[in-house]
Amino acid sequence: MLDFRSDTVTRPTEEMREAARTAAVGDDVYREDPSVNELEAEAAARVGMEAAMFVPSGTMGNQIAARVHTERGQEALVEETSHVYKYELGGFAQHSELQVRTFDGGENGAPTPEQVEAGYVAEELHRPGTGLLCLENTHNVKGGVAVPPDTVGAAADAARDHGVPVHLDGARLFNAAVSLGVPASDITEHVDSVMFCLSKGLGAPVGSILAGDASFIENARRVRKLFGGGMRQAGMVAAPGLVALENVSRLSDDHENATALAAGLDDIDGLRAPAPDTNIVLVHTENAGLTAGALIERCEREDVLASEFGEHTVRFCTHQDVDAADVERAIEVVAGAV
Ligand SMILES: *Cc1c(COP(=O)(O)O)cnc(C)c1O
Repeated sequence: MLDFRSDTVTRPTEEMREAARTAAVGDDVYREDPSVNELEAEAAARVGMEAAMFVPSGTMGNQIAARVHTERGQEALVEETSHVYKYELGGFAQHSELQVRTFDGGENGAPTPEQVEAGYVAEELHRPGTGLLCLENTHNVKGGVAVPPDTVGAAADAARDHGVPVHLDGARLFNAAVSLGVPASDITEHVDSVMFCLSKGLGAPVGSILAGDASFIENARRVRKLFGGGMRQAGMVAAPGLVALENVSRLSDDHENATALAAGLDDIDGLRAPAPDTNIVLVHTENAGLTAGALIERCEREDVLASEFGEHTVRFCTHQDVDAADVERAIEVVAGAV
């Protein structure tokens, strides 16, 4: 089975399994797990933040950030196709009692400073006030678009000029950094907090990181406990996460494979697959007279899996468990299906 549905499907490597087996552990709720402490220190350094906290999932990291940054009843400014808005069950409303206001992030999913300005609401008698701007990089629904540091900075500055904190959903932050050829900290220096996933392209079995300044992370620890995310001998899953952090440079292989996949799919009559920045390929099927669902079903019969991303859009995601030969095979299968 060639599984291009997501980069979350990667299996832990032997090295990760060994790291889990031999991990030094303690009770992380008491901050006594040496593997978790090491992972958090290393992760904070990678994104140039004062402190970091290990969380079970990216969703929990984003939700904790929103809760810590805001007060009940405020607005959160989010992109209309962002993960926090589309795929987290309205968590900002459920967990933090926020009202969301959306902007259209266009090609790259990032707002212009003018859009931030237009979306900003000053607190007054009748208006709740904007409590958070949330950005996403890479942007998933736009096709793994890597947003450059300057663009992030311009949007973030527009919010921070009003005293509004900025959270970055950087589930695939390191894909963005590798694609742009910059250290991740060049992107995160513009924001107040960042979440990134260890469990996607980096290949760890479980977990994400939430990073920010020390007082933000101190508050985040309380909210993680509140949300039920305090874990005990979490070193068992943090240790593979440390191995995963060594996989950053490997992400360029995924990007090359995605580029080859997009080129091959785009050559098929009726399909359109724009060249990707990173490891996400979006394929548009309307001109082939085929729905996304029909294409996926035909590919599945040939043991190639992909995700439906709209009526006529299919997402293929490259990762460490698919190689260049698998990409060739996938192109053949899709061509046959069309
Ligand atoms: C996967 C993802 C998340 C959430 O991560 P989980 O670990 O699946 O909860 C958040 N944001 C983006 C952009 C993602 O792709």
